[in-house]
Amino acid sequence: MTKRRRGFGRPKGPIYADLHLHSNQSDGTDSPAEVVKRAAAKGLKAIALTDHDTTAGNAEAQEAAVGEGITFLPGVEVSAEFDLVEVHILGLRLSPVQENDEMETRLAEVLEDRITRTQLMIEKLIELGVQIGEQDVAQEIAGAASPGRLHVARALYRIGVTNSVQEAFTRFIGIGKPAYVQKNRMPAMEAIELIHGRGGIASIAHPGIGGVHKKLRGLLSLPLDAVEVWHPEHSVGQSAEYGILVRENGLIATGGSDDHGSKTQRKYIGETGLNESAFQTLIARLEQV
Ligand SMILES: [Zn+2]
Ligand SMILES: [Zn+2]
Repeated sequence: MTKRRRGFGRPKGPIYADLHLHSNQSDGTDSPAEVVKRAAAKGLKAIALTDHDTTAGNAEAQEAAVGEGITFLPGVEVSAEFDLVEVHILGLRLSPVQENDEMETRLAEVLEDRITRTQLMIEKLIELGVQIGEQDVAQEIAGAASPGRLHVARALYRIGVTNSVQEAFTRFIGIGKPAYVQKNRMPAMEAIELIHGRGGIASIAHPGIGGVHKKLRGLLSLPLDAVEVWHPEHSVGQSAEYGILVRENGLIATGGSDDHGSKTQRKYIGETGLNESAFQTLIARLEQV
């Protein structure tokens, strides 16, 4: 097996802010409060919770962050699509949920799609002869507000169908694999508008992953505010490249570890993100947006 190139793009100096974190409200393993505790233990001064297609963990994390004296930016990571490519859009510094909230209404529809998709994956697995039941996956989803493929992958590993979580993707539910089911993705423009509707800034998550890089020029024609420059799966070179892109286009640089919890292999919380000066730049820009 070839080792994946992971240059671990990170800024100079200590990491001050980690603006890409997942809790068990999507496919992370820790509660929102635990995420904040881990961030504090790492010495982080600011964080954002960016669960997939849900804002359900923000209130709990916000409260915990006050207790720890950490600056908290309520967030989300929306699964969207641009020019047939899946693109994740981070929404940062969301205002509290309002009555008839457009974002929450739309995310409730996305949740329905996610539930259907999970059921379809299980059906396909059963057709393939895999001994898996809905309850096996339900156990992984537990109290999560937003089920996803990682829950199915963890179930496959736990019940002994695969030897690792990763193998579940390479054999069954990765793109193009026999039990893969495509997500219903919202247009990137819509995701950006929903984020702006909540007073947030929209940042392209990990542009170096998947086919997003090739679509960057087109994506930049959308009303984006920021690009995630620093991410564990960006090489040092990619981070440098995106840093230049941000400067040249008058955008904001964001960064984070995309940590999925203490029970995962990649416990990257606080390993990359923004240094203090990049975070202060971001905050200064937020005041103008
Ligand atoms: Zn993502
Ligand atoms: Zn993420």
